[in-house]
Amino acid sequence: MLELSVTSVPVFISGEWREIPDVATGPVFNPSRGEVIAEVPMCGKEHVDLAVEAAAEAFPAWRDTPPVERARVFYRYCQLVEKNFDRMCASVTREHGKTLAEARGSVYRGLENIEFACAAPTLLMGDTLEEIARGVDCETMLQPLGVCVGITPFNFPAMVPMWMFPLALVCGNTFVLKPSEKVPLSANLIVDLLAQAGLPKGVLNVVHGGRECVDALLTHPKVKAISFVGSSPVARHIYETGTRHGKRVQANGGAKNYVVVMPDADVPRAVEALSTAAYGCAGERCMAGSTVIAVGPASERVLPALVEAARAMKVGPTDVAQPQPDMGPVITAQHRDRVLSLVASGEKEGAKVIADGRGIRVPDAPNGFYIAPTIVDFVEDKMTIAREEVFGPVLNVMRMEDLDGAIEAANKSAYGNGAAIFTNSGKAAREFKHRVKAGMVGINIGVPATMAMFPFTGWGESFYGDLHIQGKEGVQFYTQQKVVSTRWFGDGVGDVWKK
Ligand code: NAD
Repeated sequence: MLELSVTSVPVFISGEWREIPDVATGPVFNPSRGEVIAEVPMCGKEHVDLAVEAAAEAFPAWRDTPPVERARVFYRYCQLVEKNFDRMCASVTREHGKTLAEARGSVYRGLENIEFACAAPTLLMGDTLEEIARGVDCETMLQPLGVCVGITPFNFPAMVPMWMFPLALVCGNTFVLKPSEKVPLSANLIVDLLAQAGLPKGVLNVVHGGRECVDALLTHPKVKAISFVGSSPVARHIYETGTRHGKRVQANGGAKNYVVVMPDADVPRAVEALSTAAYGCAGERCMAGSTVIAVGPASERVLPALVEAARAMKVGPTDVAQPQPDMGPVITAQHRDRVLSLVASGEKEGAKVIADGRGIRVPDAPNGFYIAPTIVDFVEDKMTIAREEVFGPVLNVMRMEDLDGAIEAANKSAYGNGAAIFTNSGKAAREFKHRVKAGMVGINIGVPATMAMFPFTGWGESFYGDLHIQGKEGVQFYTQQKVVSTRWFGDGVGDVWKK
């Protein structure tokens, strides 16, 4: 069993945890303290080859394991995840910095993906039609692809990998996971639990590293499909390189999500939802509500309450059992500085900071990577802070005269992950859901991230590919269809089937 307190991070190949000596390493931080807690190896082609070979070797036997037996491994996995839930959440909090409540929420979302995967025997059923012509029947079969790869970001260390490998594996594929080098410990933990659930050797493998490791996976001839979640420029690189090398690719990118508040909205509920949407996980969410568009007089009611809520939030270290803060740090000092420079660019381009979290001091954890909730008002769509994903606890405010202006502003974004509206008008909500260019829409819901049974449907530069992660589209992504047409002749067998 894997120990959580490791300082060097092993890879998992052919069912064995292995240290990788003599390669460059990268630091893994506890962002609450600004301390290095582990060193992650930067694997290259040699280690990728070993992992892919292990997965390729394990594929025929796993493919031929009946789906009910494959699902049984995942039923046991669900139980192990529940049993180790607190340990997993502590790991997520320690290396990512999100609060324990946020870590719990994210691990639950991951668990729901495993529960969904347990339905594989039903999800993998094909269709049949008798008599497509006289004496001819037709059926579809869903068969696995082979070796699939998952490349994941830092912001959900356990959940995003769980979006991928449970469904890929239960569909009969084998898998190589490359977690974010910033948060490799929780990924190792969830993989170790699956090994304990009885997954055969080589079916799931883990390598660690950065670009070199990813590029070796993208171009490996035995890799059939790639699931990616991360920033848009990298998503695009993954999609272009992967497809050029003949692989099936689904690549989720970054986001900029707009939340429209209409004058008739329920203000206290909208403010509560907006504060969670903007500052939850310190704003490091692809479904973060990063821009509020106040329509007409809504700004007068909403903005003072938003500023008050932002100032009331307690920010501090999350790696303590009690008391937990409302918000933790961002992932690294470098990322904090990028967020700060985007706020500064907003000011320079004419926006106004109305809640300023930049100078925060956290005496208990002076070296942690903190920014308190920040609100930037009078943002206009040409500004850098309006266009670029900030990925920190920063809420932009735009003001529009009417719903048409709000929808137009939201639709100018190159991204298209999520969008939400707060209103009591069914007509306004209907108009919004019909016209807004985003894949996931919330009506009086601040973070309309989809659950495991629905696809995670980013649009625009938030997604490159055809079949999204999760739900039935996920099953389609991890399988290929075979259509079998059958005719049997009676002649020559002595008509034994006739009375
Ligand atoms: P990132 O793009 O920097 O890294 C993601 C993964 O790609 C990591 O495993 C990393 O090692 C690898 N990588 C980084 N640079 C690479 C390169 N040049 N070539 C090949 N591989 C490379 O993203 P991040 O900072 O870890 O995560 C934050 C981003 O992820 C945000 O943009 C966020 O919106 C996005 N995200 C999107 C979703 C979604 O579903 N759309 C969900 C979560 C996070």
